[in-house]
Amino acid sequence: MLETPELEGAISAVREAALLAREVQQELVTPALTKDDRSPVTVGDFAVQAVIARRLVEHLPGVTLIGEESAEALRLEEGIDTLEQLTQFVRRAIPDATPEEVCGLVDRGSGDPPREFWTLDPIDGTKGFLRREQYAVALGKIENGSVMIGILGCPELAESSKSVSGGAGSLLVAVRGEGTWWQPLAGGGEWRRLQVSVRSEVSQARVLRSVEKAHTNVDEIGKLAEHLGITAPPVPLDSQAKYAVLAAGAGDVLLRLISPKAPNYKEKIWDQAAGSLVISEAGGCVTDLDGKPLDFSHGRELQTNRGILATNGPLHAALLAGLRAIGA
Ligand code: AMP
Ligand code: MG
Repeated sequence: MLETPELEGAISAVREAALLAREVQQELVTPALTKDDRSPVTVGDFAVQAVIARRLVEHLPGVTLIGEESAEALRLEEGIDTLEQLTQFVRRAIPDATPEEVCGLVDRGSGDPPREFWTLDPIDGTKGFLRREQYAVALGKIENGSVMIGILGCPELAESSKSVSGGAGSLLVAVRGEGTWWQPLAGGGEWRRLQVSVRSEVSQARVLRSVEKAHTNVDEIGKLAEHLGITAPPVPLDSQAKYAVLAAGAGDVLLRLISPKAPNYKEKIWDQAAGSLVISEAGGCVTDLDGKPLDFSHGRELQTNRGILATNGPLHAALLAGLRAIGA
């Protein structure tokens, strides 16, 4: 992997922010505020977005960041305590940060994407973060609708080749045309190249899915498994840690079917950018449920795609046929 100054800057930003997220989790794991869509947001989400925004601006002047969070709620009366706690954590990385500056940094992630930009999910899998299970800091670089760089910091993923928690955590880096690479989150040692599994017998497939039933369709996953003769129960994992596990060959199929609670849901770009490149550069295949490539050129959502199917490659056609057969 060619480590350009741009890539090095982005990797060190994700590493620093993911280690800070782990400190927040150890010291202050409470849902701080509830967003308009009723999903929780924590001091960890804001702190990671602020620190990555600051580091990207330092390394790459003029950069555009499209992030999941906005500081709107922090500026309200009810957000005062959260902003105070958040500023204390951010000061561990940026000693002179003021609350106003922290809000400004978080808000660097708002707005509409230009042709070339970075997209960030500061804490993907916030519910996993709150349960002390898997979560990921996910940063991707997009150019003309394609992901060029994907970086995942997974503090609770001991090794991407096993879906077990704890240890030093994992850092995954994918660069278009140059493969997917792994290092312990804390750094040190050589980068190890990751490769997806070679499994081609569909009945043997190990399926990965969301823990949160509202983010997928668990009943339909059951139907699909039955139709394809898959016997092993699906492995539930929060966040793009699933994508890391598939890239390392410890799973074969990743399904994001459409939740019956949100039939018109469009995937957010920060939930798929880094993870999809991590899988494809490890030799896997990522499409939507209709077999269409993911198109990142329609703003903050994957407007022209429906759900996600990712596999090791050899299993893709069988899974697409299965999805069609059950009408998913
Ligand atoms: P997971 O860890 O697989 O549950 O995915 C977490 C992500 O799911 C969050 O970052 C949300 O942006 C996203 N999400 C929220 N609602 C939905 C939905 N109805 N369908 C799919 N994904 C969703
Ligand atoms: Mg997310």
